[in-house]
Amino acid sequence: MLKVTIWNEFLHEKTDERAKALYPEGIHEHLAKVLQAPDLEIRTAYLDQDEDHGLGGDVLDSTDVLLWWGHMAHNKVKDEVAAKVRKRVREGMGFVPMHSAHMSKAFVGLMGTACTLQWREIGEKARIWCVNPGHPIAQGVPLTFPLESEEMYGEVFHIPAPDELLFITWWQGGNVFRGGCTFRRGLGKIFYFHPGHETCPSFHNENVLKILSNAIRWAAPAEPRDFRAGDWVEPLEEFRPEKLR
Ligand code: ZN
Repeated sequence: MLKVTIWNEFLHEKTDERAKALYPEGIHEHLAKVLQAPDLEIRTAYLDQDEDHGLGGDVLDSTDVLLWWGHMAHNKVKDEVAAKVRKRVREGMGFVPMHSAHMSKAFVGLMGTACTLQWREIGEKARIWCVNPGHPIAQGVPLTFPLESEEMYGEVFHIPAPDELLFITWWQGGNVFRGGCTFRRGLGKIFYFHPGHETCPSFHNENVLKILSNAIRWAAPAEPRDFRAGDWVEPLEEFRPEKLR
């Protein structure tokens, strides 16, 4: 079983009527429901859940893949919690930052760049193009599909050159965006994907959900879980160091 934790800010859905209508129990609970599968054990957590935002104790240590949705309260996430997320990613935990999580403390820290972008919130049409159809995250997804309404995120997106570029998004207003990218940090795999503005129905779109579902399996740690960065192996062959000088 793959242990998945879906973290959500869970603020908009309490106050914004349109967000509430789309995600009455919050984006985290919605995603937990629609992404459930026999091979996944899904938990949820949110900002105001407790003093560690629901990520205290052994939650992060026992998470294989962490999905993260944040938007308006990145600065309310404790530095210690964000640091623990980054540490766990380097140790091998998969990380799937969605939508505005490009500005989350964890993602920005892992990238080492500003991670800023252009944005426009009028709910314009987007068209997502797959530019890496052989990639595991793109399986079962059409080469291109529209989102009728989404918040525009456009270039220049100040990220390091992605390890793999999977999706490019075209916008009605003429912008383009590297909207689906992978990165590796330490042993951890990261997939950033831009759809998911709280007043747009993107998390009801079957292709968006298929991509997230694939991303969870792709980002799962492949390495043994007991490996830690800095582990040391003594020389395995017999040799006499003085002879090598
Ligand atoms: Zn948004």
